[in-house]
Amino acid sequence: MSNKEEAAANRKRPEQFKLVNAYDEIVKTAVSEMMNTTDACKCERCYLDVCAIVFNQGYSHFVNTREGELLKKVPEMNHGNRAQLMVQILHAIKKVQDFPHHSGYQKKS
Ligand SMILES: [Zn+2]
Repeated sequence: MSNKEEAAANRKRPEQFKLVNAYDEIVKTAVSEMMNTTDACKCERCYLDVCAIVFNQGYSHFVNTREGELLKKVPEMNHGNRAQLMVQILHAIKKVQDFPHHSGYQKKS
C-alpha cells in the first residue's frame, strides 16, 4: 500500500477512543523498577497488586485519547512528587509482600 492509500484508509477508519490513566506509565515503570531493588515476589500478580494499591492512593487521572495517539497531558513529576510516589510504592510492596494474594509465596530471608 502506498503512503497515499494508507492515509486514505486511516481517514476512513472510524475514530477509536481509549480511556487511559495518565499515571499508568509513570506508576508501572516506577513499580517495576522498585520491585527489582527489593526481594519481593516479582510475579505478575504481585506486581499488578502493587500497581493497584498505588493507583488507588490517588495516582489516577483518567483521560480519553484517540487510539495510538500519544498522551498529551502526562502528569508533571517534579522531585518532590517523585519522592512521594517512591514512598507510596514501597509501602504498597510491603503490604503485598506481607499479604500476598497467592499461595506458595516464600519470603526470602
Ligand atoms: Zn507473587
